[in-house]
Amino acid sequence: MTTPVFRFAPSPTGFLHLGHALSAVSVWRAAEAVGGRVLLRIEDIDPARSRPEHVAAIEEDLAWLGLRWDGEVRRQSNHMDDYARALMSLGDRSLVYPSRLTRADISEAVARIEEAEGRPWPRDPDGAARLPIPGARENEAETRHALRLDMAKALRAIGGERLVWREEGAGPDGETGDVAARPDLWGDVILARKETPTSYHLAVVVDDAAQGVTHVVRGQDMFHATSAHRLLQRLLGLPAPVYRHHRLVSDAEGQKLAKSRGSTSLRDLRVAGWDRNDVLRAVDALLKGDVLKSSA
Ligand code: GLU
Repeated sequence: MTTPVFRFAPSPTGFLHLGHALSAVSVWRAAEAVGGRVLLRIEDIDPARSRPEHVAAIEEDLAWLGLRWDGEVRRQSNHMDDYARALMSLGDRSLVYPSRLTRADISEAVARIEEAEGRPWPRDPDGAARLPIPGARENEAETRHALRLDMAKALRAIGGERLVWREEGAGPDGETGDVAARPDLWGDVILARKETPTSYHLAVVVDDAAQGVTHVVRGQDMFHATSAHRLLQRLLGLPAPVYRHHRLVSDAEGQKLAKSRGSTSLRDLRVAGWDRNDVLRAVDALLKGDVLKSSA
């Protein structure tokens, strides 16, 4: 039997907080339960938001928690050629098209249709208007192109094959077991932007395959993204890992934790006198369903 491979894949856009600790502990525990290895991947495709000091801090905080990863850290910014190759393979099959639609173009087109039809235009699982939008005019003045997947063509390319994934955790509505992927709900997803020659969806499937990841453990906020990931894996001929989506940490107001909303970082907790076991105890309480007090 081959050794299961897990990964922890934070974005270095801030310091790790208790939500990340819960995610990391879930990854390492799941790996430990099956004698798996854990890899560390830094998801730094966005040059405007990623900071080297956050990369160093992630490694330091994980070490402080006693979580050790195997082998070299993979940084997505070092692998742009891999994403370009994957994009080219989709482009060769005419599954990708350049689009100059700005957010404003999209909202304008959606508003026009909603007004005319008197009903809301469909949204993707992240809440963005689902593309294509008939009659949305490409902006001539906009020089930047986003490369989008032509969802209708992509679905035709797989001949209506039903894509599923194995869910060992649960989605937001309790979905578990063999889950049917619904990539159609995403519409024409962005695969690359002018300033970032890949997108999260493309990079994550390329990397999981390149790193031989067999088990993806991550937050429930990524549950619906798995539908887009399954389609890209199928189109690119990449293997599908098993998925385990875990519940998210929310604060007392029921909001997802985010550094931008001032959630306390692990380093602040450390300075405040917390040790590793305090963090692990807090993680266990959160996994049992406790909410975070705003003072934590
Ligand atoms: N980089 C993502 C995050 O920090 C995780 C993506 C994933 O695990 O697929 O939220």
